[in-house]
Amino acid sequence: MKELKILYLYPDILELYGDYGNIQILKYRLEKRGIKANVIRYSIGDDVPNFKDYDLVFAGGGADQEQSILAKDLIKYKDNIKEAVDAGVFFLLICGAYQLFGKYYKGVEGNIIPGLDVFPYYTEAINDRKKRCIGNIVINVNLNGKETKVIGFGNHGGQTYDVETPFGKVLFGNGNKFGDDNEGFFLKNVIATYLHGPLLSKNPELADFIIKYSLDRKYNEDTVLEPLDDTFENLCRKQLLNRFLAETKNNP
Ligand code: GLN
Repeated sequence: MKELKILYLYPDILELYGDYGNIQILKYRLEKRGIKANVIRYSIGDDVPNFKDYDLVFAGGGADQEQSILAKDLIKYKDNIKEAVDAGVFFLLICGAYQLFGKYYKGVEGNIIPGLDVFPYYTEAINDRKKRCIGNIVINVNLNGKETKVIGFGNHGGQTYDVETPFGKVLFGNGNKFGDDNEGFFLKNVIATYLHGPLLSKNPELADFIIKYSLDRKYNEDTVLEPLDDTFENLCRKQLLNRFLAETKNNP
């Protein structure tokens, strides 16, 4: 039986706005296709992981305090993570995790949390707790040449700068900072985004894009994924896109 080995980072600390749901969706969409989802959880004090042993690494969002706690632990793996990124392991990073893979995150209190500096961007929160990017988001994303709308919602004070390869173009809501029309960070094997939700429950195409990439790399083949019945997901998407994009039309 084929299998994907998934490393789930800090599930007890980085777990905001249903981000655990991304692991559940990956498991569901793999197991429905007879592919084993071998999910290994790692948090502070657990056995040291070798990131290159995994096919997919996932980390969710967290409040400033949680980020400062785990950053001291995460930084220990900077070199190993860099090697894993360079080797093509897929990384899905949501919000707080997205921020920590950059140069640094400056919290709302002005405290600097050193990041892994694996990617060239940096994030600074506005020093006003009321000034946060909160709300639904729709972005236009190009996945292997196919344009698709990705839906989620954001809740972050951090404003992210120096992103040269964004994940998508904002159609509704905020991007990497207030009013930014770029959202997230994207490489061949890295998606870092502010979209919570959980992200993958609202975007089955994106989930399958990540699954296909990971299987293709692991088994060195052009995987053809058996289609799943996404009727309900697509009905939900239709409703959300009509609501959010109609709102844009009504108040450009
Ligand atoms: N604490 C970070 C911020 O406020 C990340 C928040 C999150 O992960 N939702 O920007």
